[in-house]
Amino acid sequence: MHFTRRRLLGAGAGLTAMGLAPARVWAELALGNAKVSTVSDGSLLLPGDFIFQHMPEVELAKVLQEAGVPRDRLAPECNVTLYQGGGNTVLFDVGSGPDFMPTAGNVTESLDAIGVAPDDITHVVFTHAHPDHIWGLLDDFDDPVFANATYMIGSDEWDYWWNPNTVDTIGEARAAFAVGAKRRLEAIEDQIERFDDGQEIFPGIAAVASYGHTPGHMSFEIRSGSTSALIAGDAIGNHHVAFHKPGWLSASDQDPALAAKTRAQLCDRLVTDDMTLIGFHLPNGGIGRTEKASDSYRFIQDI
Ligand SMILES: [Zn+2]
Repeated sequence: MHFTRRRLLGAGAGLTAMGLAPARVWAELALGNAKVSTVSDGSLLLPGDFIFQHMPEVELAKVLQEAGVPRDRLAPECNVTLYQGGGNTVLFDVGSGPDFMPTAGNVTESLDAIGVAPDDITHVVFTHAHPDHIWGLLDDFDDPVFANATYMIGSDEWDYWWNPNTVDTIGEARAAFAVGAKRRLEAIEDQIERFDDGQEIFPGIAAVASYGHTPGHMSFEIRSGSTSALIAGDAIGNHHVAFHKPGWLSASDQDPALAAKTRAQLCDRLVTDDMTLIGFHLPNGGIGRTEKASDSYRFIQDI
């Protein structure tokens, strides 16, 4: 029997039986005349030490118990942001593609479910070049998935991953990240534009340097009148320790001390400026608000 992709999407049980997460739009947000959605690329499966390795265990246990998160195993969602406004259809990050983890790489199916084809994407903007954010650039045949898109990346992020020495300096555990990023950036070298901190990359959307998770990680502030949202990428990478203890050093960050400083600053700004937060690995589609609670923060999703 011949299955079209559309038929498969209509058959959620069939998808699950095939080991694929059902495609869905997670969450939507109206910002002026623009629409911001998150679409699921699936999820990752990671050992707890990926984040928690150097954290104080007794205090950590309390934070995780309160959040209902196990110590040994993490299954973070991957939420790609879709911005539709001003005649542009923009993806912020592209997910993992077919080569990273079997639980991820579903973004094109999720887009298809809301009537957005890969060729409709006018721009792809990267927060950073880790596998779960950039490997989805290429399909099974190493062809670009978003054939009509202009690509955009922060200048420092580009310089870091383009540097041939990075594979030797990044450390053994992440050497494959360096090889994978370089290969994909080479594939789009002629279609990429670089931007810097504070630059307005589209009307009402400005780049916000949020270095530490990677050397050139960028977040994005979307502003419409008095309403604003922050696409944080992995600068705020989970809904538990990142909010409860933003100053703790996380093993998932390439420069943990700088990432902690960045995280604390972003949390403060989200509260002070009353911004909506859109996080790539935050739960239930990743859109919510940040609330201050004594000397820590909470991620709230009752918007
Ligand atoms: Zn990530």
